Amino acid sequence: DRLIAASAQESDIRVDHAIRPKRLADYIGQPRVREQLEIFIHAARARDESLDHTLVFGPPGLGKTTLANIIAAEMGVNLTSTSGPVLERAGDLAAMLTNLKSGDVLFIDEIHRLSPVVEEILYPAMEDFQLDIVIGEGPAARSIKLDLPPFTLVGATTRAGRLTSPLRDRFGIVQRLEFYAIDELTEIVSRSARLLGVETDEAGAREVARRSRGTPRIANRLLRRVRDFAEVRAEGQITAEVADQALNMLHVDHHGLDHMDRRLLLAMIEKFDGGPVGVDSLSAAISEERDTIEDVIEPYLIQQGLMMRTARGRVVTRQAWHHFGIAPNERAID
Ligand code: ADP
Repeated sequence: DRLIAASAQESDIRVDHAIRPKRLADYIGQPRVREQLEIFIHAARARDESLDHTLVFGPPGLGKTTLANIIAAEMGVNLTSTSGPVLERAGDLAAMLTNLKSGDVLFIDEIHRLSPVVEEILYPAMEDFQLDIVIGEGPAARSIKLDLPPFTLVGATTRAGRLTSPLRDRFGIVQRLEFYAIDELTEIVSRSARLLGVETDEAGAREVARRSRGTPRIANRLLRRVRDFAEVRAEGQITAEVADQALNMLHVDHHGLDHMDRRLLLAMIEKFDGGPVGVDSLSAAISEERDTIEDVIEPYLIQQGLMMRTARGRVVTRQAWHHFGIAPNERAID
């Protein structure tokens, strides 16, 4: 597993309960999302209604699951959690829906991966709080309708574009999470350090934040690895210098890039003169699957302006050449 992977790893799950913010007031950053949800939740509570169905989208590790939990806590209801690929049959979803109590939150992670039959069950459930289900097969089959209690569906997805439009249209509230600014991540690292009993000064937290790719999950993971280093080499104190040494040792550079990122960018510079180069040639050059390049490595590099996808292929930007201390060629773009 990559240390800077944004998806959850075993070690993240173990500390999650200790550091995950429980209330909206503890949710750092995302000011627009927080402000809107505060109003919607307050209004729904005042009317004694369930909150509208809410879709949260954004890259992994930015706080979608956390937000679903916070919504349930702020509404004072229970949360039931599942995910798109886990709900294989219509009956799986029907069982969850019939177990909900009035106002409860049903959280479906990776909602873009629901199967069509399960999605069909969801439409009337979301719209009219009705369960329409066929029992049995052939001539003995019959359809039954059940009333469900009002509930709030919170859906999370990394790819809003992959949602079918009938599903998307049934969400009253849609929130998009953005990558976090360094200041916000610094606050997140400081808060996690406090909760985990790690001694960190502001500059130490900032150094971890700077290399965390805008992502709280990565920031918290790097903090734990830097803590290990600090305990062995620096009497447990995380300063900027200690964080820098630890992260250099772990091959996470000043930009939060690891060896995979560097390998891709360097191949483009050294073997393809900065591009344009097709993804299949790149894949062959660095011996990585095309999907890994497109889904795992590229998004952050593109978001950071280190490379671009153009109609003629991938190109690195001037910034990428500078990152490696190599003078850009005359074709390099900004
Ligand atoms: P996602 O569901 O988007 O993949 P999570 O909600 O699981 O991400 O968040 C990953 C981790 O990052 C959580 O353990 C949580 O502690 C932390 N985190 C996420 N968002 C915030 C935030 N706004 N403030 C503080 N910590 C956060």
